[in-house]
Amino acid sequence: GTQRVKDQVAFVTGAGSGIGRAAAIRLAEQGAKVCLADLKDSRADEVKRIIEQAGGEAIVADIDVSDPARVSEGIRQTFDRWGRLDIVFANAGINGTWTPIEDMAEEEWDNTLTTNLKGTFLAVKYAIPHMKQNGGSIIITSSINGSRKFSNFGASAYSASKAGQVAFAKMAALELARYKIRVNVICPGAIQTNIGENTEKTPELEKIEIPVKYPEGSQPLEHKAGKPEQVADLVLFLASGESSHISGTELFIDGVESLL
Ligand code: NAD
Repeated sequence: GTQRVKDQVAFVTGAGSGIGRAAAIRLAEQGAKVCLADLKDSRADEVKRIIEQAGGEAIVADIDVSDPARVSEGIRQTFDRWGRLDIVFANAGINGTWTPIEDMAEEEWDNTLTTNLKGTFLAVKYAIPHMKQNGGSIIITSSINGSRKFSNFGASAYSASKAGQVAFAKMAALELARYKIRVNVICPGAIQTNIGENTEKTPELEKIEIPVKYPEGSQPLEHKAGKPEQVADLVLFLASGESSHISGTELFIDGVESLL
């Protein structure tokens, strides 16, 4: 069949693992040229090989999403390589430190907010000049923690950063409509990725654990955490022309987890 994002150019952050990796592979399979943006020591090179072996095109950009110089450089590199930019998937993120608010170090708060929220702002800010001629689609990865489920105790900084992304995405959708740039935010529930590697749960958490606790993977629809590939299908839909009338929307992809 016809490819759904044929000849489009995509910039994907956090492309070395989990949701970003699956989305980058899916976009490339559907005809997009993809810049795999991730930290220097990430697994983005492996994703590049997978895409190329399948006949697709990809480059790797070593960026820390919280570093404006690296983000703007990575986006410029993408534009220079292929002469356009149509899709931005601002997805990189960390769980950070989960601890009671009274024990949360200011540096830990800042690190989570800077990576998740400022990182999103920077990717959007530096993409606009390259997208405003032809329009395009920006997709931001928030979480059900951004508006609907707060039972991960200790995740105050994470939840604040994720809520900030939702508000930012809606504002951006309004503001960028004049350039025909659509902006949508996705809110996954638990997904099987490597995000646990970037999670620090402190012993102090026991102070605030309450007995309303669901076992790992309690999602009414499939009774297990979702797969990155399922999220990638939503990202592809939002990136493609199939969603041409959808902007400013918050989409939950959680197997009904957040309504428990
Ligand atoms: P993951 O850890 O598997 O992948 C995240 C990628 O982002 C990694 O490759 C990592 O190197 C990269 N990254 C982290 N900090 C970065 C930085 N400062 N600069 C550049 N790259 C950076 O995790 P994932 O689950 O795929 O996470 C992707 C997004 O999904 C995050 O925003 C996360 O909050 C969100 N999310 C995940 C879940 C889940 O259950 N896995 C649920 C809801 C939302």
